[in-house]
Amino acid sequence: MNVDRKILLNPGPATTTDSVKFAQVVPDICPREREFGDLMEYVSVELTKIVADPDYYTTVLFAGSGTAVVESVISSVIPHGKKALIINNGAYGDRMCQIASSYGIDYIEFKSSPVEPIILDTLKDIIVSDSDISHLVVVHNETTTGLLNDLNDLGAIAAKFNLGFIVDAMSSYAAIPISMVDQKIDFLCASSNKNIQGMAGVGFVIGSTEKLQALNSIRPRNFYLNLFAQYENFTKSHQMRFTPPVQTLYALKQAIVEFKEETLQGRCERYSKSCERLKYHLKEIGLTYLVDDDYHSKIITAIELPDGVDFDHMHDHFFENDITIYPGKIGEFNTFRIANIGDIDHRDIDVFCEMLKQYLTEFGVS
Ligand SMILES: *Cc1c(COP(=O)(O)O)cnc(C)c1O
Repeated sequence: MNVDRKILLNPGPATTTDSVKFAQVVPDICPREREFGDLMEYVSVELTKIVADPDYYTTVLFAGSGTAVVESVISSVIPHGKKALIINNGAYGDRMCQIASSYGIDYIEFKSSPVEPIILDTLKDIIVSDSDISHLVVVHNETTTGLLNDLNDLGAIAAKFNLGFIVDAMSSYAAIPISMVDQKIDFLCASSNKNIQGMAGVGFVIGSTEKLQALNSIRPRNFYLNLFAQYENFTKSHQMRFTPPVQTLYALKQAIVEFKEETLQGRCERYSKSCERLKYHLKEIGLTYLVDDDYHSKIITAIELPDGVDFDHMHDHFFENDITIYPGKIGEFNTFRIANIGDIDHRDIDVFCEMLKQYLTEFGVS
């Protein structure tokens, strides 16, 4: 059986292989069975290996979308009476501030340009001026624009000032090389449906095992999303505390097998090639994108929408042709976004760009 192929150019859930789709069709199983525990253990260890050594780092799985695990980390890691320093250079940084705020967790919002690198000296000045700050929190690839925040620089600053370092790597994990130990990352958040190319429904936190154990001393602010409780329960029983998304986890296992076949380098190169094709065509068409190549993740590109073009109309046109494009999310610029993640390659980008050229010509944009 074949499933109709759709080209998803939204930043996740991404296009999946048929083998990942079909991996969900399995005999019914109670997730408390040992066989299912072994599956989750495999998934957990393999997800860790992509960014860290499983002897020192542990992946904690949750049923939930990516935001659930960002919420889990922020609510479970910042000690009572301490402050998070949250870098906000896009909608996802802003979301982390909203999470802290809804828990009544003290935080400082470090606003930074959505298209230019962070000014590190200003960041350091803030850290020095407030001894209550315990953690530095950042989005790696800001999915709003594709601006890539430099984890080497930020991790070095966190380590220098003895801060914990929390990274939302949702849209970079499994496509851009990350080393938690070298980049001094204590907790990293990602999910099943972006660059790892699985189905939506599993969020996960990869943490230093030592730091995960130390969370024991923080009085819980929540129940379902408490990171220490989920970590401890899985370590003891190889079970999630509550019903896991069973079939999504089978698909995630298959997605990991396919990731290992392609390798991180292979995936990184395939995605980069797609992005370079995209930018080549954009230049030819005469469209501009927001982030300079030097700071761009090559995963998602925010493109200025030409005057007179209605995004919804354009979306519907592409959707009828099996291609999904994504709206912009940044107030000051009128943009749309193209992600080049998932089971697609530069040939799909060529097809999309050819259609884009025709669409714009038809609507009188030269
Ligand atoms: C996709 C994404 C999330 C999570 O979004 P969900 O819709 O909850 O899966 C969080 N942060 C970033 C940077 C993302 O790209």
